[in-house]
Amino acid sequence: MIKVAVAGCAGRMGRTVCDTVRAADDMELACGIDPHRPEVDFPVYPTVAAALESWAFDVLVDFTQPSVVADNLRVALPAGVDCVVGTTGLSNETLEELAALAPAGTCLFYAPNFTTGAVLMMEFAKAAAPYFPEAEVIEFHHCNKKDAPSGTAVRTAQIIAEARDGRASEAPGKETEIEGAEGARGALVDGVPVHSVRSMGYVASQEVVFGSLGQTLSIRHDSWDRTSYMPGVLLGIRSVGSCEGLVVGLENFMA
Ligand code: NAD
Repeated sequence: MIKVAVAGCAGRMGRTVCDTVRAADDMELACGIDPHRPEVDFPVYPTVAAALESWAFDVLVDFTQPSVVADNLRVALPAGVDCVVGTTGLSNETLEELAALAPAGTCLFYAPNFTTGAVLMMEFAKAAAPYFPEAEVIEFHHCNKKDAPSGTAVRTAQIIAEARDGRASEAPGKETEIEGAEGARGALVDGVPVHSVRSMGYVASQEVVFGSLGQTLSIRHDSWDRTSYMPGVLLGIRSVGSCEGLVVGLENFMA
């Protein structure tokens, strides 16, 4: 049995992860970690340190907040706990710095998106990028999302930039934004414009629009429910035990 602790267990994602872990035959929910203690029938601790004092667990799943996730990992990784992280907003430098705290045999796995569909969307974007001079990313999320752009949008822009192999966009940029409407051309991530929509009605969606002479190609993925992330979270929990160091992206575990 894989013993799992869930940081952010009172939150939207954390609650769903707890239910999913409890329903898995090969896992046991050891405890939750959340300063806002939910009324649940399993132990919940306010910090990772407090949880580690009371329980031994193999894997920490973190769906908390960009402002606290690094501190959680700074406690869990040196203790030899494999970490499965969905909380977005961590830079590559911070991820590498955190992974260096892990002893041999311990893994820090971060996925900017745990849905298989979004991973495939990024793969398709990578395949299309060399054939289209222009590309823009538009992401759509619920109003409570605390970071913009989303981790998936940032990762998609990075993948497109890598696949372009140094070729720059020729589309008009920030110099065409009119006074008082700065930002109309989006945020540039590695040279790719990224636009963030926040609205009621969405969970998480993203469209990548490619443009070439006389043609456009749109690749779109929609997550309509948080259960869409759960197969990926389970795959991460089952895979980290046989990995070590930093692993970024669910595609590393998808056969
Ligand atoms: P949420 O605000 O509903 O939940 C966050 C929870 O973290 C809250 O219950 C809060 O009390 C708790 N928390 C705060 N500080 C904590 C700490 N120090 N230790 C433990 N818990 C703490 O947020 P959410 O919608 O569940 O999203 C959580 C994160 O997951 C966000 O960063 C979001 O962008 C990200 N996310 C990632 C994916 C993905 O596929 N990678 C998917 C959905 C959401």
